[in-house]
Amino acid sequence: MRGMFAESMTVGDAIDWGAEILDESDESGPHSREDSMLLLRHVLGIPPAEMHAYRERPLTGLQTEAFNALIQQRAHGTPIQHLTGEQEFFGLPFFVTSDVLIPRPETEHLVEAAIARLQHHPAPRIADVGTGSGAIAVALALPHAEVIALDISPAALGVAMRNAQRNHVAHRIRFVESDLLAAIQGESFDAIVSNPPYIAFSERPTLPVEVREYEPALALFAGPTGLEFYQRLIPAAHLLLVPAGWLMMEIGHGQRDAVRALLEHQEWDAIEFLPDLQSIPRVAIARKG
Ligand code: GLN
Repeated sequence: MRGMFAESMTVGDAIDWGAEILDESDESGPHSREDSMLLLRHVLGIPPAEMHAYRERPLTGLQTEAFNALIQQRAHGTPIQHLTGEQEFFGLPFFVTSDVLIPRPETEHLVEAAIARLQHHPAPRIADVGTGSGAIAVALALPHAEVIALDISPAALGVAMRNAQRNHVAHRIRFVESDLLAAIQGESFDAIVSNPPYIAFSERPTLPVEVREYEPALALFAGPTGLEFYQRLIPAAHLLLVPAGWLMMEIGHGQRDAVRALLEHQEWDAIEFLPDLQSIPRVAIARKG
């Protein structure tokens, strides 16, 4: 059965078969069984909790073909989220395409830090720079907030708008095509948040295939050092924040000291770095002095 699919597999057989194909691939990551199950659920359209009840059911020919096609793509490194079209972030469902970075769990720390600092503000104005899928903007579009989601990529803004609609917050978010904050000069914000591209070009070969070959370079790579967006964003944000306004940015592995130096170079107070679940400094926070 390996490498091709049998005529009438049951759901249980299909999961085993898919997991085996993925196990043999070098490009599909370590979660063969979960991926196989997720892709089959996607084909069959059944909720996770009901999967076990279907184990003995045979697949139709069309379902088998559709599943086989997804398994082959996954085996070549296509991210699972590009095959299902979805990723959950902060407990909310998001559409993803190859035009946007797939939202990562580390970025939830940034959202939590922002909510903690803005929750008592009666009507915070928030800018999300490089919104991509809109993950941060949508998660921060709480009832009293006004959010501006910026991106240089019109295709990304299209995905972000669909995500705002999907999560019923489109009326609280303005979408603006912009290189960083360039298109909204003269406006002012209580918080500027961003998960900018922060990978150095030279790190490209070290990235997993599913990131390197499938996620947008525009969202991943900053330039020769990886710090290029912080160098531009920190002074640009200072101009647009209200006094005591917050700048909150995700940072990459090993970037804390360099980002701290950039912040100390300007008038920022309360500079702080929050760790992710692996204890890697992941969120840079500073208050305009
Ligand atoms: N803001 C988006 C996210 O956090 C996109 C970030 C990016 O593309 N660098 O997922």
